[in-house]
Amino acid sequence: MQAKNSKIDKVWRIIDLINWGEKYLKEKSIENSKIEIELFLQHLLKCKRIDLYLQFETIVKPESLAILRKWITRRINNEPIQYILGSSEFYGRPFIVNKNVLIPRPETEILIDISIEELKNVNSPLILDVGTGSGCIAITIALEIPSSKIIALDIDERAISVAKNNVEKHGVKNIEFVVTDIFHEKINKNVDMLISNPPYIAKEEVPGLMKEVKDYEPLVALTDNNDGLMFYRRFAEIIPSILKKNGMAIMEVGVEDHPDRVEEIFREYGFNDIRTELDLNKDKRALVIKNK
Ligand code: GLN
Repeated sequence: MQAKNSKIDKVWRIIDLINWGEKYLKEKSIENSKIEIELFLQHLLKCKRIDLYLQFETIVKPESLAILRKWITRRINNEPIQYILGSSEFYGRPFIVNKNVLIPRPETEILIDISIEELKNVNSPLILDVGTGSGCIAITIALEIPSSKIIALDIDERAISVAKNNVEKHGVKNIEFVVTDIFHEKINKNVDMLISNPPYIAKEEVPGLMKEVKDYEPLVALTDNNDGLMFYRRFAEIIPSILKKNGMAIMEVGVEDHPDRVEEIFREYGFNDIRTELDLNKDKRALVIKNK
């Protein structure tokens, strides 16, 4: 499939498109080119990966080829495949995404594992998710712990509207959404757990991010426009008015010295029950703090 201007008289079978796409995307420096062309074709033809190979001789219609061509053009301009397809996986489930929400990251899944473990002996836990974005954390917890009740906050109502679509998609009932700016509004709650994957990239690090991230993902979800620690300072400040005694906060943290700097903030605020959890790459990825 020529990217431009070719008169499409050639017949394209699924297998031809897989072979072409793998090579073309790789030439354009897309790393997992085979997985990506397979994903594009699965969405295009509404089938599973295995079906692509079971029906590899099937001829793809010109209308479908036209759609695929548009998608591929967007992809080689570095737009993330999840935004092109409008969908991303988190904890084994599909979530609707668009440019108003961060694409869920596999590293964030450990926040779910930790919550499930920590809440296993808590009856009908009440949870506050700060910066819910696509709602991936809130919805996954709601599904994994059906007795839980979750309040999910975000500053951006466009993000909340994506999260609400995801709630509908997954048929979840136990989440309440609130559009709020936690820096300017007072939150008085009495919850068992605060969970958050806040914007933690420092303003000065934004220019160095991958194009996929800095040109397409919402800045408000990536950076606090400061030193990458603003949200943690605010959490340290408001935890006493949010968490029950013995309640806990589970927060994602960044790379290099970021986890240690976050820990230091909480120590300065007098918290001393602090634990760090590693992700699958053995990087510090989450901080778990118990309220005094
Ligand atoms: N909670 C969402 C996620 O983990 C959004 C996080 C954010 O926007 N910083 O993907």
